[in-house]
Amino acid sequence: AVTAPVATRTTPELPSSVKLTHPDRLYWPDDGVTKQGLANYYAEVWEAMAPFVVDRPLALLRCPDGINGQCFFQKHVWRGANKAIKLFKDPQDDASEEPLVMISALEGLIGLVQAGALELHPWGSTIKKLEQPDTIIMDLDPGEGVSWERICDAAREIKARFEDLGLAAFVKTSGGKGLHVVSPLKPKADWDTTKAFTKQIAESMAADSPDEFVSVITKSKRKNKILVDYLRNGRNATAVAAYSSRARKGAAVSMPVAWDELGPNIRPDGFTVENAPAHVANRGSDPWADFRKAAQLLPKLPSKRR
Ligand code: ATP
Ligand code: MN
Ligand code: MN
Repeated sequence: AVTAPVATRTTPELPSSVKLTHPDRLYWPDDGVTKQGLANYYAEVWEAMAPFVVDRPLALLRCPDGINGQCFFQKHVWRGANKAIKLFKDPQDDASEEPLVMISALEGLIGLVQAGALELHPWGSTIKKLEQPDTIIMDLDPGEGVSWERICDAAREIKARFEDLGLAAFVKTSGGKGLHVVSPLKPKADWDTTKAFTKQIAESMAADSPDEFVSVITKSKRKNKILVDYLRNGRNATAVAAYSSRARKGAAVSMPVAWDELGPNIRPDGFTVENAPAHVANRGSDPWADFRKAAQLLPKLPSKRR
């Protein structure tokens, strides 16, 4: 038998426009992942990642001293931000408010790495159509006692419900405990309409399978159940980007997966800054390659059962 050639990888060159100071600074001390290591990771996955982070406002989880230091969730730009980081004024912010953060190329992302941004949380809309989301996301949050198999089944149930309504469905690991089911939209409906749509899906899942799902965030109600967190779909709400690293032990990343990969061979935090580049280089095809092409108009609200 002939063995298939293994793709050889060379780390793409980093843009010379952004200087990394202290490249050996450990961002994940227990995992040995440095600032330089994170920058190299992003250079390797940039081509696949770009559509999900370019030209949309980004909230950031910044941990300049690494995950064991102080981290802050930040929506607005800070003093001294690298010039590769673009700015965008939210028309709904006060005049006194700093602009939002945005990137248009890899150099912007490296600028964010330089600033200790260990998680990127994009809006579900682009700056071209800020008030009309082009992405919806159902965030599956397992309560205590929920098996991985049940989380995967929950993702497949959302896929089925989306597809029944004419929407496409894509899935990614969160890099934490759960999964995110994501659907591309043609940007037309406004934020409130879009959030109401996702709320109704979450509520009907909880109504149809009350032992399986909850749609309210009350922690005490979540034991042995899965929260279908639809609240990521409001204006100003965010969810972690595909391919973003997580500021948690293990240096996991949020990884797009194919539906037929979803099962016992993967884990929600199994893809990491260290192992993801080889996975991405060797996976054959990008399971999210047709994401934007699959965009649909937001369907009418499914009518409530009585
Ligand atoms: P997991 O699979 O472990 O649930 P997750 O990324 O889905 O991982 P959640 O707690 O379900 O984590 O979602 C939190 C979301 O809330 C984040 O994705 C982020 O966009 C948003 N968020 C709002 N405020 C904060 C904050 N202060 N720190 C972190 N995230 C925040
Ligand atoms: Mn979650
Ligand atoms: Mn959540």
